[in-house]
Amino acid sequence: MKYEHILIRFGELNTKGKNKIDFINCLFKNMKRVLKKFSTLEYLKTHDHIYITLNDEDCDEVIKVLKEVSGIANFSLVKKCELDENIIKETCLEVIKNSNGQTFKVKCKRANKNFLIHSDDMNRLIASHILKNSDLKVDVHQPDILLSVEIRNEGAFISTNKIQGAGGYPLGIGGKALVLLSGGIDSPVASYMMMKRGINIEAVHFASPPYTSFEAQTKVIDLLKKLSVIKGASIKLHIVPFTSLQEKIYELGDESYAITLMRRMMYRIAAILASRNNCKALVTGESVGQVASQTLDSIKVINETISLPVIRPLACMDKLEIIDISKRIDTYDISIRPFIDCCTIFTPKNPVTHPKSDRCEELESRFDYKQYVYDCVKNTTHLQIDENYSNEDVSEFL
Ligand code: ATP
Ligand code: MG
Repeated sequence: MKYEHILIRFGELNTKGKNKIDFINCLFKNMKRVLKKFSTLEYLKTHDHIYITLNDEDCDEVIKVLKEVSGIANFSLVKKCELDENIIKETCLEVIKNSNGQTFKVKCKRANKNFLIHSDDMNRLIASHILKNSDLKVDVHQPDILLSVEIRNEGAFISTNKIQGAGGYPLGIGGKALVLLSGGIDSPVASYMMMKRGINIEAVHFASPPYTSFEAQTKVIDLLKKLSVIKGASIKLHIVPFTSLQEKIYELGDESYAITLMRRMMYRIAAILASRNNCKALVTGESVGQVASQTLDSIKVINETISLPVIRPLACMDKLEIIDISKRIDTYDISIRPFIDCCTIFTPKNPVTHPKSDRCEELESRFDYKQYVYDCVKNTTHLQIDENYSNEDVSEFL
């Protein structure tokens, strides 16, 4: 059976009162952007729904894309037919036979008053036709299948199965944040979760050539390519040359504090890049307690270097939950490619798990760290990554 339309419902957006129009417009724009390769689709935006007319497009492919659009609660495939009692009854029967379940309820809505049969009568006529021609039973309280029939000027629109959408808010409605993207499993998942909350992202990656490899950077770029497909547009990437600052930290003589100091520097550099690019917060893939630099004490002394809010979407999630999401959004296979991160290469034997602010400040006072931070920012490379970005272009930045 071929469906002609998709009916999209907003869910959480419905709670947004007078901002609803902005939300719907933003969702509408995002949706059209990610679906632009399906050139024959037509759209209709109403106050409560968006309708897509499929025309010649592959329904399954369109569904695959729609499932990742944040701000959509759920959607249904819709069969359209002529405004004729018998044709409507037959089409309803065909649709319900293509659905899963043993019980049903018919819910008719008559927007077109020129159609002379009232909704309640239509409900009864359709239900008895289905009862006569199938093994299905009626259940008005908890039906397996809710058959919805809308009588409109253009015809009757019949739908059943609700397909779960991504939920959340339309991307971009909540401003922009800067993600610290390492190439591991966690930070791409954190990026995705922010995007789902309606936050646009840019990414910053700290690279330490020659200690970190070409693959480490292509990994970050490949991850952003995946995220840019979900977004439907390119994402800005800032690559920070971190080597001299990192080497300097190791010369200070207290290896146990190296990771803590490195993170403090990362935050400082990221905060400057964020404010220059109108990003209102930093985002990391940190999860409380996962490693030495993610104890509460570590988070505290790292966080106190900046005043910008730091959002940690994975703070209380288990690694397995994070892995599940990374598989679903297709970043897992890229994340597990072996590579050496700037943190792994210099990992001390005994990193401090309860660092002290005084000690950090004392170590940092031994060199002109502000100059180093400034140089990192000055020498940062800025790229715009979309799904067609060629990895060959990366070599020149090493
Ligand atoms: P991930 O899987 O995201 O790498 P992780 O569990 O390996 O996280 P860490 O290596 O301690 O944890 O890093 C914690 C967070 O710090 C990362 O999620 C990321 O946001 C940020 N980070 C770490 N290394 C880098 C880097 N080289 N460039 C940018 N951000 C980084
Ligand atoms: Mg990591």
